Amino acid sequence: MTLRFRPYTLELNHAFTIATSSRTTTPAMLVEVEREGVIGYGEAAMPPYLGESQETAARFFERVDLSRFADPYCLEEILPAIDALSPGNTAAKAAIDIALHDWIGRRLAAPWHRIWGLNKHRAPVTSFTIGIDTPEVVREKTRAAAQYKILKVKLGRDNDEELIETIRSVTDTPLTVDANQGWRDRESALRKIEWLARRNVLFIEQPMPKEQLEDTAWLRERSPLPLIADENVQRLADVARLAGVFDGINIKLMKCTGLREAHAMITLARALGLKTMLGCMTETSCAISAAAQLSPLVDWADLDGALLIRNDPFLGATVVDGRVTLNDHPGIGVSRRPSTR
Ligand code: MG
Repeated sequence: MTLRFRPYTLELNHAFTIATSSRTTTPAMLVEVEREGVIGYGEAAMPPYLGESQETAARFFERVDLSRFADPYCLEEILPAIDALSPGNTAAKAAIDIALHDWIGRRLAAPWHRIWGLNKHRAPVTSFTIGIDTPEVVREKTRAAAQYKILKVKLGRDNDEELIETIRSVTDTPLTVDANQGWRDRESALRKIEWLARRNVLFIEQPMPKEQLEDTAWLRERSPLPLIADENVQRLADVARLAGVFDGINIKLMKCTGLREAHAMITLARALGLKTMLGCMTETSCAISAAAQLSPLVDWADLDGALLIRNDPFLGATVVDGRVTLNDHPGIGVSRRPSTR
């Protein structure tokens, strides 16, 4: 089995602004594994604040030798060996995990949602992120997002209430709020959540800095809305200690090294009574379609990453009428989009 990779820069439709940064592109790596004339596709999407880059991913891929594994179906052997090559590089590892899953599914002529025993008609609606911007632009973006059943808003700056009121001046669609660790004081965070609970908000993602677990547990006991961990959870080993601190976890392929571990995280979280959410970075339809294979298992999906870019080289799982919509194509359900590089 051979591994190929090349850098690809995702171009965003709008500048993407969160509590800590703003950008117009996301660096990515597109990966292919090939054997027996079958190609499996994978992707690493690497927003700069997470510490990976096209250079670190390329250096990682150069150390991966898939030819030494006799049986490409043995993911339980291959993926731990790749994981052991370095402590980080989670997006690069995810790219290989996705490509191997895609290859196996194509070889078996079955989509992964079927291999996992899931009902594709149970795929959830996905939230769509309304980026931070001027009130005029926020109103315009909100109107343009009319097909989505849930909108997501990034808070954690000093104009949180203004942004919510701006969206509420246009629509009553349920909102989810991602504070991206932006609230440092638990008392004022509680007051903010109580205010948001009266404005049809479904849950709060990562309200407080990841170091403030005790404050987050305090907040959870009093919060009228569920609290979902994002920055506090990366991999399977992080899940168990979050029970009692958060109500749920946001699982992303680029954080957790891919589909294999994401599936295990969902299983563990459910056993612990935690809600589950599948999230993403800005990604092409490759990684989004991979995550979508798992989506019938989770409570909430936030898989809008491919909708936020204008140079998606893939066709895959889509969003129809706000709902994640899986196809019956094998593997992760993607094909190359005809008109792109
Ligand atoms: Mg988040």
